Amino acid sequence: MSSNKRRAGFVCHELYMWHDTGNYAGPLPYGNPVQPDIHAENPETKRRFRNLLEVSGLTEQLHLIKPRMATEEEILRFHTKEHLENVKKVSADTGGDAGFFTPAGRGSYEIAMLSAGGVLAAVEAIVSGQVDNAYALVRPPGHHAIAGEGMGFCIFGNAALAGMHAFEQLGLNKIAYVDWDVHHGNGTQAAFYDDPRALTISVHQDNCFPPDSGHVHEIGAGAGEGFNLNVPLPPGSGVGAYEAVFDQVVIPALDRFAPDLIIVPSGFDAGAYDPLGRMQMHSDGYRSLTAKLVAAADRHCEGRMLLTHEGGYNSWTVPFFGLAVMETLSGVSTGVEDPFLPLHAGLGGQDLQAHQQAAIELALPAIERLG
Ligand SMILES: [Zn+2]
Repeated sequence: MSSNKRRAGFVCHELYMWHDTGNYAGPLPYGNPVQPDIHAENPETKRRFRNLLEVSGLTEQLHLIKPRMATEEEILRFHTKEHLENVKKVSADTGGDAGFFTPAGRGSYEIAMLSAGGVLAAVEAIVSGQVDNAYALVRPPGHHAIAGEGMGFCIFGNAALAGMHAFEQLGLNKIAYVDWDVHHGNGTQAAFYDDPRALTISVHQDNCFPPDSGHVHEIGAGAGEGFNLNVPLPPGSGVGAYEAVFDQVVIPALDRFAPDLIIVPSGFDAGAYDPLGRMQMHSDGYRSLTAKLVAAADRHCEGRMLLTHEGGYNSWTVPFFGLAVMETLSGVSTGVEDPFLPLHAGLGGQDLQAHQQAAIELALPAIERLG
């Protein structure tokens, strides 16, 4: 047992895998003139992530947290009644749209409530001190969902709801979000746009999804002005660029804000070869970013950190990115090596490039605004 060992919580449930996104081709909604295929947001990456944890022996080192259903009241802290009722109706019927690029199947309402509730159970376990940190491998994901509708495969805003729960029920005052999904964390940004209690940071591929979202100039509004921070990176960014963003922007911002809890909407679609992103992260890169966040959480909030699963669509590689994160959260090394790492690490452009540094520098004034 290493001295870095922590009580890492883990949330998962087989029902998460039963959320049926249909047979549309890739990310496209129903109705496009394209031969049906498997939907991009299907169970496979999540199931294989969970299975690799088990096969590596790591699962037995984790503290399993039982998910619960979120209540309607908890969902309505962020979402409109109309959105909730629409999801319920679509789900009770034969399935349909829960929002922009958001298919829902029969029974998806109950699964989305269990997904949101899994994240709530995780934040409860962290704040009560049952665990030091936790990863909620939930599905459907949440970081794109906005108040009035689902978006980008996300039905309810799991990560935003966890923060609202921590503010309203668990007595926390300051939460920092660090969204490393390759797409902009627009839903979480919108949830707290005028709220200075939440620092929302998103590091993402420039103008990838949603369209025209996640710009540097989106800095928050009203009392929340200065508490939203976007770092759009050029496509092709690798581990060097991500480490530079964390060292130059994310960690200094966290150190100024001094949160009571860090929440990471964790998508692995910035990984090399992801079908929905064009970045080059690899397992050691995720290990490194996680270690930086764990150290920041140690400095500010007794290690309290919650990761909520978001995107990540390469079913071969996502499990190894997830294992690297879980080893770092738990401080347990399984000895299982990522067979893709030599290939990914050798890709051209993994080092920080000048145009990527220039993009990072556009975000530096945001740190000053935090005081
Ligand atoms: Zn994504």
